[in-house]
Amino acid sequence: MSESCCQHFRLLDPPRLSRATYDRADSLRMDARRLAAGWPKARVVVVDERGRTPVRPAVGGAVGGEYEVLTRPAPELAPTPPDEATLLGEHDGVAYWAVRGWPSLVDGDDPAQWQDLRARGADLDATSAGLVTTAVAVLAWHDTAGYCANCGAATQRRHAGWMRRCPSCGREEYPRTDPAVICLVHDGGSGGSARVLLARQPVWPPGRYSVLAGFVEAGESLEVCVTREIKEEVGIRVWDIQYVASQAWPFPRSLMIGFSALADPAQPLRPARGEIADALWVTRDELRRAQVDGDWAAADGQQLLLPPSVSIARGMLDAWTAAG
Ligand SMILES: [Zn+2]
Repeated sequence: MSESCCQHFRLLDPPRLSRATYDRADSLRMDARRLAAGWPKARVVVVDERGRTPVRPAVGGAVGGEYEVLTRPAPELAPTPPDEATLLGEHDGVAYWAVRGWPSLVDGDDPAQWQDLRARGADLDATSAGLVTTAVAVLAWHDTAGYCANCGAATQRRHAGWMRRCPSCGREEYPRTDPAVICLVHDGGSGGSARVLLARQPVWPPGRYSVLAGFVEAGESLEVCVTREIKEEVGIRVWDIQYVASQAWPFPRSLMIGFSALADPAQPLRPARGEIADALWVTRDELRRAQVDGDWAAADGQQLLLPPSVSIARGMLDAWTAAG
């Protein structure tokens, strides 16, 4: 195989949590008058501390999904925008906000309707997916940003929940995101015999495999991170690193940045002890059979179970499989 060999692919569709269709409306965040004016017809996305929000089968008009988020009328929460609410943005002239909450039997909530993004994110309509992903991410940040990292004083919310400021030393903090790379490593081949590298973590049940991923370290570029992670995790060298797509993964605050890279399957695989339980090259034909068998929600015990469709890993594997 020549190092100039390449076979690039694109996702068939945007990652399921990247289908944001609403306007984040950042110009509204510091406009208290307009925020108050929009409150009477605003809607609120309520998310509990485990990242669950009420969803229901979509009732017409929803695009790209079978479920939709069940929002509440904002005036039920408070007569004016409360301090603990974060503005998500606008859609069809309606402002959407996020707050922490939990199922309330007094309000007629059905706790069974409360589901998280891992379980239901792939099935949400595009607007719901964007709203809930942002709500989960920004609320998780507030949970951990209550005290100034510089002087320890309690911080205060600003900008409709998009900044926290320390009244003691003036430090400002904005919602944090941890970049992580996720890379589909393949051999550049074509047809059903082309191969892709999969691995599994020790904590995963037998049969579950995915592509390799890891967090970007301080001072590191994305490309160097891809090279380092794959070398560390399975001991092989990759080249022709290409950006594919990205997706927020707010568990609690990652951004998954997807790449593809080429490698020579003749290199010996050396799974990192304690991190990688097994790594193997799988052909495109084998991957196609695994797609039919189902994902991680399928019964354990099958030889090769693929990541769920809500993950960018699955989007990349599906795209690679379709590309040859
Ligand atoms: Zn401070």
